[in-house]
Amino acid sequence: MTGIYISYPFCAQKCTYCNFASGVFPRALEEKYGQALSAEIRTSSFAGGVDTVYLGGGTPSAMPLELLDEILRAIPGRPWREATIETAPGTVTLERARAWILSGINRVSLGVQSFVQHELARTGRRHSAAVVEAEIALLRGCGLSNLNIDLIAGLPGQTEASWRESLDWIEKLAPPHVSIYMLEVDEDSRLGAEILLGGKRYGAFDAPSDDMCAAFYETAVERLRGMGIPRYEISNFARPGWESIHNLKYWQRTPYTGFGADAHSFDGARRWQNVESAADYVARWDRGESAREESSDANAGEEKFFVGLRLSEGVETSAEDRKQYAEPIERFVESGLLERDGARIRLTNQGVLLSNEVFQEFLNA
Ligand code: SF4
Repeated sequence: MTGIYISYPFCAQKCTYCNFASGVFPRALEEKYGQALSAEIRTSSFAGGVDTVYLGGGTPSAMPLELLDEILRAIPGRPWREATIETAPGTVTLERARAWILSGINRVSLGVQSFVQHELARTGRRHSAAVVEAEIALLRGCGLSNLNIDLIAGLPGQTEASWRESLDWIEKLAPPHVSIYMLEVDEDSRLGAEILLGGKRYGAFDAPSDDMCAAFYETAVERLRGMGIPRYEISNFARPGWESIHNLKYWQRTPYTGFGADAHSFDGARRWQNVESAADYVARWDRGESAREESSDANAGEEKFFVGLRLSEGVETSAEDRKQYAEPIERFVESGLLERDGARIRLTNQGVLLSNEVFQEFLNA
């Protein structure tokens, strides 16, 4: 069974920390994008069946309901084991929630990022903690209880106390799934570029240090575990049985197919990607060309570690792996970044904080 990812890169505002190929685009482009996306999905074959769907973005919660229904009708397998829609708080309404359920959606991921007003104001987000609380009540009232909340560690102005406040909200709202992301500081976001330049805009001067971000993450791991929401992947935490079935495909290297701009696909042997920008995606469709841009063979040996070690359960090594990667495994076990459990290896708490360093060694081995 494959998982389907659908990209809808349209947003009401461009958040300062966002480094995705999403944003505010002309209405005409959004309409044409909807037509191109629907056509790409309707003309695809879904051999082998579909068991999960994930609508990401962007803000797919703002997608016209007729378009959402048209797209989901073209995908076989309903009711899917899991069908998630990402939402920006402030876009959830009773009409939308009811329509999502009728279209087959059974899981909602809320891009909350923070429950603290002064942090949200600097990100460009327009919601408040009260809005999130009301929308979660609305979703639960409609029967949508499989909910995820995203938080970001490292936002400008974040302190130990404000981070605790966001985690207190998680305890109060008790979602079964939480994602904690570290702020990515790179030139692809306005905030990231400002931090790199040592500037002041977007609160860049007030961004917490790397050590503070690591401490926020560790606090979250402890607090969430105490709430019965343990970590199952570096950035993901769930009550047992509520792990994201779709996202597990990425880390367990099972097939998924992406539709729309910048969507990635993997068929078990090859990986490919659609053109990154919404405008290019529409232009290709106008010219009758495929949206597919890059394609490469997957390197199963490297990916097994690079992707699999993200999971708390770790990776079951074969005799061949233990021979090929003997040196980095031994070194990281000795330095306390990896632990062994029979043939299985997994990141320690310290290893999670330095995971990129560990992954790099497996790519270079
Ligand atoms: S963070 Fe989400 S809502 Fe904000 S610009 Fe990026 S994709 Fe859009």
